[in-house]
Amino acid sequence: MSYFDNVRQVTPYVPGEQPVVTGDLIKLNTNENPYPPSPKVKDAVEALPIDEMRLYPNTTAAPLAEALAAYHGLRPEQVFVGVGSDDVLATCFLTFFAGKDPVLFPDITYYFYDVWAELYRIPYERIPLDENFRIVPDDYRKKNGGIVIANPNAPTSIGEPMDFIEGIVKDHPDSVVIVDEAYIDYGGETSLPLLQKYKNLVIVRTFSKSRSFAGMRVGYAMADSKLIEALNSVKFSINSYTMNCTAIAYGVASVQDEPYFREMIAKIVKTRDKTAERLASLGFTCLPSQANFLFATHETVPAQEIFTYLKTKNIYVRFFNKPRIDNYLRITIGTDEQMDRLIETLSGMLENR
Ligand code: PMP
Repeated sequence: MSYFDNVRQVTPYVPGEQPVVTGDLIKLNTNENPYPPSPKVKDAVEALPIDEMRLYPNTTAAPLAEALAAYHGLRPEQVFVGVGSDDVLATCFLTFFAGKDPVLFPDITYYFYDVWAELYRIPYERIPLDENFRIVPDDYRKKNGGIVIANPNAPTSIGEPMDFIEGIVKDHPDSVVIVDEAYIDYGGETSLPLLQKYKNLVIVRTFSKSRSFAGMRVGYAMADSKLIEALNSVKFSINSYTMNCTAIAYGVASVQDEPYFREMIAKIVKTRDKTAERLASLGFTCLPSQANFLFATHETVPAQEIFTYLKTKNIYVRFFNKPRIDNYLRITIGTDEQMDRLIETLSGMLENR
């Protein structure tokens, strides 16, 4: 017996590398937005009275929950705000998956889901995607303690329409179904309208990608008020003050600048589609993307070799050494100039082989 026997042993999630961005380094490995947040956020930074820091923040981030509720046509009691969607999803796992049956999610999806399940000792089962990396709803028709679907999925970038998600939510009225819409703003079809019909549906969103807030840490969940109340009960059993006053104020400013938001998204979608075409001409196949990244495989050159080469050229992309996807690269969409350099670098590499 040792003092360490009582220490919780976990295998943590491994986030993408965060190199210091200096000189010509291009960071396309963690799906951040290459553009800054709305100028309205800058104004909010300057307007925030320093004295606010003296006081504890609003425990439910009410100003932001209210702004998001108005934005999405919901009631504030239907919104839960957290420190990035990782915080929101972790709280969802702890709150909604307290049963004995396994929670189901795809074998290839956001690799944090298994980590939370392990941490909270939630039984779980990974359901294989089909050979085209699509979800097969019939495979979920078994006893379960909940379901988690990232839509669009990550790292595959593939989105499914609302009808498809509705089928799953409808099939499992006795389970909470979480739909992680981290990448929905880049062309996916949201399942938000389903909240009117289904009390077992939870939709999770993040400000990290489409709102350029990865460093500010804001995420949220939307659901029936009974589920949001349950989330708050768990949150208030751990830490009442998760959202700092700056994140709340900046978040509100971001939500209030719709034209800027739409403009940035359109720019990234345009760059994405152009990049997919250029990659195809270099012998890559990209899965059909509805996200701010491409999932690409090359016809002859192994993904790991390309990943390593790009790094020597100061271009960071993501490579997952995992079953079924270890010949793919996940490439975040950057600015047009960044993508030009990526394409030039890849062309140079492929020509010299
Ligand atoms: N869900 C998915 C599918 C993601 O890819 C990410 C980003 N790694 C997150 C949630 C978490 O993002 P954040 O905590 O920055 O909101």
